[in-house]
Amino acid sequence: MEYPRFSGISTFMRLAHVRELHGVDFAVIGAPFDTGATYRVGARFGPQAIRAASTLLRPYHTSLDLALFERLSGVDYGDFSVVPGYLPDTCTKIEEQMRPVLNAGTVPLVLGGDHSISLPELRAVADRFGPVGLIQFDAHGDVWEPYFGDKDTHGTPFRRAVEEGLLDVSRSSQIGLRGPLHEKADLDISRQLGFQVFTADEMRRVGLDAVSAAARERAGAGPCFLTFDIDFVDPAYAPATGTPEIGGFSGWESQQLLRGLQGVRFVGFDLVEICPPYDDPGATTALLAANIVYELVALLAVSRR
Ligand code: MN
Ligand code: MN
Repeated sequence: MEYPRFSGISTFMRLAHVRELHGVDFAVIGAPFDTGATYRVGARFGPQAIRAASTLLRPYHTSLDLALFERLSGVDYGDFSVVPGYLPDTCTKIEEQMRPVLNAGTVPLVLGGDHSISLPELRAVADRFGPVGLIQFDAHGDVWEPYFGDKDTHGTPFRRAVEEGLLDVSRSSQIGLRGPLHEKADLDISRQLGFQVFTADEMRRVGLDAVSAAARERAGAGPCFLTFDIDFVDPAYAPATGTPEIGGFSGWESQQLLRGLQGVRFVGFDLVEICPPYDDPGATTALLAANIVYELVALLAVSRR
């Protein structure tokens, strides 16, 4: 209450910028990289926009009746070093920089960046924990074969993760898939790879609680990674993203779905595809994104309650 929330340097939620992770439960880390994007670029500016929008977040979670930092400590670790324009080099660097965070016993909460950053994150996570369950909120499965002849873009990370044995697909779910595809067969790729899939249409038929429950049940007791592509949300609520799809979900629906995942053992998170050059003057997408991260922090806090 000493300084107005808009003053000072924008770290996430005004947490301390700390690089020493001893005793730190979670670290918010930027991955300002968008060379994996195949349509709109600009997600490299995501981390700074989310941080700026996050300064209004306060530590008491009213819906969960939970003081987030009562039993949980978190820091803003700053950004991973990346190489603009060079995807393979950046993947190597992100994987290397994830390791000390995981080795410190700290849960990384990575702000993208486009979705290509999830693959090197998962390489480091699987190296420490073995194959992990994945819960993916996304309008797209991101399980394409090579795009433009190259096997790594933001449209391919989860196929690669399956191929490399980083995921336990029997504990993994993709939630929110929708939008036009090249052909009918594209719809089946995720299920053929072994994921539990909820399309946006199916979600509306069964209801949000049933979707969360199914993802939670499938995740079981083992380690899990949660990846949230902001295009899961309808572009009316989150216009600033690389490949927008209409017919998505609201901010409130996103909050409900995430709150329904209490009890899953999360060892890492990322939130990707916020593309600030396409945001409105009110930074609507960045504000929504900051609040999604808030729910991810809350999931960790709940596990310590
Ligand atoms: Mn997507
Ligand atoms: Mn994606």
